[in-house]
Amino acid sequence: MKEKFTEPPFSGKYLHKTTDGTYKCVACDNPIFSSDAQFDSGTGWPSFDQAIPGAVKEIPDSDYGMNRVEIVCAKCGSHLGHVFNDGPTKTGKRYCINSVCLNLEEKKQDGLPKALAFDLDGTLASSKYRIEDDMVNVLCKILAHVPIAVVSGASREQFNEQFLKYFPKDFDFTSKLYIFPQNGAELIEYKNGSWVVDYENSLDKRNEKEIVSALNLALKKFDLKENRDYGSLIESRGDQVTLSALGQKAPLELKQKWDPDQAIRIKMKAFLEPLLPDDEIRIGGATSIDITKRGIHKAYAMSYFIKMLNIPKNDLLYIGDALFPGGNDEIVKKNGFVCQQVDNPQHTLIILRDILQKYEEASRK
Ligand SMILES: [Mg+2]
Repeated sequence: MKEKFTEPPFSGKYLHKTTDGTYKCVACDNPIFSSDAQFDSGTGWPSFDQAIPGAVKEIPDSDYGMNRVEIVCAKCGSHLGHVFNDGPTKTGKRYCINSVCLNLEEKKQDGLPKALAFDLDGTLASSKYRIEDDMVNVLCKILAHVPIAVVSGASREQFNEQFLKYFPKDFDFTSKLYIFPQNGAELIEYKNGSWVVDYENSLDKRNEKEIVSALNLALKKFDLKENRDYGSLIESRGDQVTLSALGQKAPLELKQKWDPDQAIRIKMKAFLEPLLPDDEIRIGGATSIDITKRGIHKAYAMSYFIKMLNIPKNDLLYIGDALFPGGNDEIVKKNGFVCQQVDNPQHTLIILRDILQKYEEASRK
């Protein structure tokens, strides 16, 4: 850092923002940038639109015949990078920094989460199967401590079939459990003893038609045909259109074998994207592709949930089985929510029992 070198572009570990926290000077631990100030400049270096006040010093730099402004740590004088006046945000600044000069201190959740959120298939229940009684029991106990949201590509009806109808009949979910079917295109909430629709982000009829015809083109291109016993391949539900490559009712075993590494659906998605530039296209469960209005996805649901509860992002813990790159929960993580990856519902249950114990201990104190 003392030699003021610049690391090769697209090589640094902090090029993309993945976790919230504070970037500190690697030499002296001085806090330099908040991750809130980071943006993707496309230049190949981590970029920020402002430094923490007083954290850096600007020094005119005419090396290599260029008129630039060098940035050094205000505390120890270590070289960090340069600042330019071509930033895209309100500050107009672009701090172009070497990853090797920084150390990210991740933001920790203080204490226990104030709300929990879950994916459904593969997280709370096996894909398309009913939730187990053990899971219902632990969720009911946790609902006594914190509110819970569940978000899935599943329809309202499927949520009922797979999830809601296994809870005790007299359970009062008011201000406790929130269901976001169709990846957050809808919210249903418990009010005065029954489940009611809070919002629906319906597709307009023209858009819905466009999606259905694009999906029909995809079926042709990928040679997918309806099997009468397995139900229709395209299902339009008003605010989401879902393609189930083998049919909604195809046996789970067949579904799981069809595209385990998502290779086929990655190609289908790439085929659909130019046809539907204004929609949100996602790879869903074992065989599905879900399409909603742009901006409607699991992270949208989570943002709506924390706003409704009036809690900061970091007070929510999201648990899902597909947070890995390309997974259908990844968008939640990408939007800076605190997430926990699980392998299957049994794994979720172990984590929930542990969390429940902590809530119970905290409430006894
Ligand atoms: Mg899942």
